[in-house]
Order: sequence, then C-alpha cells, then structure tokens
Amino acid sequence: MNDSWQQQLRKLPLEEVPHCILCGADGKPDPRWNGYLELTPPFGVLHCTSCMLHWLSPRPNAEGYARLYSDALYFGGRGASPAGYMQLAKRRMGYFRARIHAIAKIAAADAHLAILDYGAATGEFVRAALDEGHECMGIELSADARATARAVNNVKLLSADGIQQIGEMQFDLVHMNHVLEHMPDPMSHLLWCHRVLRPHGLLVLEVPQQFENDLDRLRRWLHVGGRQKRFDAYSLHHTYFFSPNAMKLLLNGSGFETLNLVTFDPNSTPLSPFSLKNVILRTLLGLADRLHHGGNIIEVFSRKL
Ligand SMILES: [Zn+2]
Repeated sequence: MNDSWQQQLRKLPLEEVPHCILCGADGKPDPRWNGYLELTPPFGVLHCTSCMLHWLSPRPNAEGYARLYSDALYFGGRGASPAGYMQLAKRRMGYFRARIHAIAKIAAADAHLAILDYGAATGEFVRAALDEGHECMGIELSADARATARAVNNVKLLSADGIQQIGEMQFDLVHMNHVLEHMPDPMSHLLWCHRVLRPHGLLVLEVPQQFENDLDRLRRWLHVGGRQKRFDAYSLHHTYFFSPNAMKLLLNGSGFETLNLVTFDPNSTPLSPFSLKNVILRTLLGLADRLHHGGNIIEVFSRKL
C-alpha cells in the first residue's frame, strides 16, 4: 500500500541547521513552536535568544524541499492546507496592484520600472506589473507553478536555470512576496538580489509574522486557531520565522537600508465587500501594528546601500 501524504512528509531527506544565520549563536529548541506547527520528531524549531529568529531544524534538505513543492504534496494537493490555492492566488491580485502603485510613488512619479519578481508562484504579481505598464520578469522554482502561471495568468516565468541569464545591476526593483521564509539560505538570496539591483534599487518584500502576532495570540487564547490544525506541508514549508527586528538585521547584513517596515497592510484586508469580520481584523491588526509591530505580516520597503 502507498504511504499517506503525511508519512511521505515524514520520510523526506533531512538536514540540521544548528546556528543562527544572523549572529552565529547556537539555536535553542523551542517546544512551544513545535506545538504551533504540529511538528513531531524528526522535525523541530530552534531559536536565537539574542536575535529572536526562529527556524526549522531538522528540516527537509534540498532534495526534500524539491519533493515537498509538488502538486501531490503542495499546490492544491491533499497535503496543502487550504486546498483552494488558486482562489487565494486570485485574491492577491488587487493587493499586488496597490503595492505596485506604492512602489511607483517611491521610485519616481512617472517611473517605468524594470522589475524582477523573485519566487513568482503562479504569476499574479508579474501579471499585475505588466498590466500597469512595467517590464517584469518572474522566477519560479516549481514547474507545476510555472505551468499554472502560463495557463491562468498568461505569463512565462523563468525556472531556476533562468537565473544564469540575469546580469548584475539589471533591475530597479526586486519583489519577493512570501518567499524569503521558504528559502533554506535567505542571506545568500538577499546578497544575490543586491547584485542584480541597480544603484539605489528597491527591494520590497513581505513575509508572515507567524504565531508572534496579536491576532494569533488572541486566537490561541480563545482556542480558535493561531496555530497549524494538523501536520501537513504547511508545517514544513517555512524554513525561517522572522520578527521585525530579525528582518532589519538580515537586510542590514545584506547591504540594504530599511525605508519602511509595517506589520499590517489594510489592502490585504479590504473593507469591500463589507464584513464585520474584516472591520474587526483591520481594527485589531492596525492597532497591533501601531502599538508594537504586532501585526500578522512584515512588509518592508528597503533600498540598496
Ligand atoms: Zn542570532
């Protein structure tokens, strides 16, 4: 009999990451976070008590992650939660259009930008940037996601091999939406972004502020969420869990200055169509962001130094 998808996840080949990538300190186990992710051995979470960075270790190695990001285990497969990935992707389009307008304002009034979307998933940001009149390339490792980008959004994304054709100082903007937290080595990827950006080019990225945000804290307190419901692909797909402070350290160490960092973006929780849930979410997360950067994302606009 074939293994269940959960058993397949537990059999992925592993590697350990014992030290903090920001300061080199030994990582300490964090059993609380193992619980948030529904992890059982061999997997676990370590954290750095000085940088407040959390990371998965042991985690799947390169071959393990290649197996994880497949249709069967991830994109709409039974191992993914929620299963309706494409509906989520569709909802991101308006959010991306608003972000492109915000970026154009910072870059220059009538800017026509050369953009790279690094980790383009199923191509929604690339589609939105092209529609707004910018040049935009996208890179995506997953062949399944690239095929969907072509079929659904009519954009052709580069594979990992395509990175070879990208020269230095080619882009005005590199965009990474919920990508960095999936990367086994985020520092080396940011250094690469630094190289392909023109002088003073922009790096705009968003990652989740997972678990350590006021919404998840409230949900856990009320026993209505704020953690993984079960062990699945989403328990393993994030290699790193950033705090605002850890993110600033990482960017600074990679040659970027932070222009603006927020932990809530109202465009991701629009008021229309009107719902009480969205009003409460916006109020709670907006307040959490203003009071102590306690929102559920980390969105950073940064500039190459
Ligand atoms: Zn550290």
